[in-house]
Amino acid sequence: MKKHNFFAGPSILPQYTLDKTIEGIKDFAGSGLSVLEISHRSKEFIACMNDTISLVRELLDIPAGYQVMFLGGGASLQFAMVPMNLMEKKSAYLVTGEWATKAHKEAKLYGEAVEVASSKDRNFSYIPKGYPVPSDASYFHITTNNTIYGTEMKKDPDSAIPLIADMSSDIFSRPVDVSKYSLIYAGAQKNLAPAGVTLIIVKEEILGKMTRQIPTMLDYRTHIKAESMFNTPPVFAIFAAQQTLQWLKDMGGVKAIQKKNMEKAQLLYDEIDRNKLFVPTVNDPEDRSLMNICFVMASGYKELEQPFADFAKSRGMVGIAGHRSVGGFRASTYNALPRESVQALVDTMKEFERNN
Ligand SMILES: *Cc1c(COP(=O)(O)O)cnc(C)c1O
Repeated sequence: MKKHNFFAGPSILPQYTLDKTIEGIKDFAGSGLSVLEISHRSKEFIACMNDTISLVRELLDIPAGYQVMFLGGGASLQFAMVPMNLMEKKSAYLVTGEWATKAHKEAKLYGEAVEVASSKDRNFSYIPKGYPVPSDASYFHITTNNTIYGTEMKKDPDSAIPLIADMSSDIFSRPVDVSKYSLIYAGAQKNLAPAGVTLIIVKEEILGKMTRQIPTMLDYRTHIKAESMFNTPPVFAIFAAQQTLQWLKDMGGVKAIQKKNMEKAQLLYDEIDRNKLFVPTVNDPEDRSLMNICFVMASGYKELEQPFADFAKSRGMVGIAGHRSVGGFRASTYNALPRESVQALVDTMKEFERNN
């Protein structure tokens, strides 16, 4: 039976990426070697790295003055690298979920990390608005998509101080005005590649202003200077990212995928709103994520949660269990998820409603 992959991360990749990766595992760029056994200093891999970085630049329309890097350590390492490299004494954090909370926690190790607003009071089910940001902070940190609770900041906010964003779960899902950000980071395993690599886009002029000592491996300037080859980069994950980016470019880029993502999300939110058995966890359509769509059983139908999980599983749905801190269900609708999978979930919900 066809599986519909709704996992939150690692998550579905385009069939194109899987096919090209299989080819590369057998014979990488006509080298006669597998991508798994090639030197990162080989001319074939250097070409792959350069092309991957150009694709990132092209797809996100990155202006001059920005550097693009691929590092290890996941988005979680960026929680610490950001304050280490960029926070003099004070920083500002918008706390919209579990990942934002973790990022905020690391910044506290380096000084005063101000929480400008939080949506914790309602289990992170909305995006706070209308908060002041201290003008003397080194930067303002946001998490554009809240992977666990299903909220998203779909517009690039204005900020009077340098803006930094964790875009792990919505990068490449829509056009981004990179010029509004000083630094963007994203773990690859949601919308780009298998786990193992993190994309960083940084405005070069904000670096090098710190008085503190930064360990070599944790200093962005090390990796800029060495073009992401200071040490062995995650070769395989970068190769896979190149395939996903090529796929995205071929289908028309981030504007084209945004349209598809909006249609997929609308299809599912409409059904959640219509179906008497389910309720959304995020009410304001403006705050609803287009990437992670969360819903729970409506009151009076709680006992149907496990039966629905079983029924959906029997229909080929995989990875729709909600995060343990929310419960219910979460369908991740990343770029690579076909509309047919969303339709299949909607049909499953309708059928379950008819049966119950
Ligand atoms: C998944 C995720 C992370 C954590 O990524 P790792 O690569 O596992 O460290 C951080 N932030 C957001 C928004 C995420 O979705």
